[in-house]
Amino acid sequence: MTKGRRWQYYDIYSGKCSGFPDCCIRWFIDEWIHRAWKPADNADFIQKYNDSANQLAHELGKKHIGYIICPKCIESKNLVKMNTCKKDKCTCHKLLDLLCKERDENL
Ligand SMILES: [Zn+2]
Ligand SMILES: [Zn+2]
Repeated sequence: MTKGRRWQYYDIYSGKCSGFPDCCIRWFIDEWIHRAWKPADNADFIQKYNDSANQLAHELGKKHIGYIICPKCIESKNLVKMNTCKKDKCTCHKLLDLLCKERDENL
């Protein structure tokens, strides 16, 4: 497994852990990450996305969405309630600790 893949695995795992729908996790990994890494090249895309996400938050009477929701869910107003996990008890945090440790050791 390459390093990038491991982080991707973490994104999937923690996304599941937070209770996000599969479509949002997939969109985050397939689309959003790549765009967000190059904000200058994707300014229009990001602006459009933020506008529609903020619009949905506003419609639902919230300040912000709180996670990267996919366009399909924005369309259908499918906002999920996030689970918060207990840092010392949840596997996703252990996975993150491991990945960070590995990254720090390789610097
Ligand atoms: Zn979705
Ligand atoms: Zn967790």
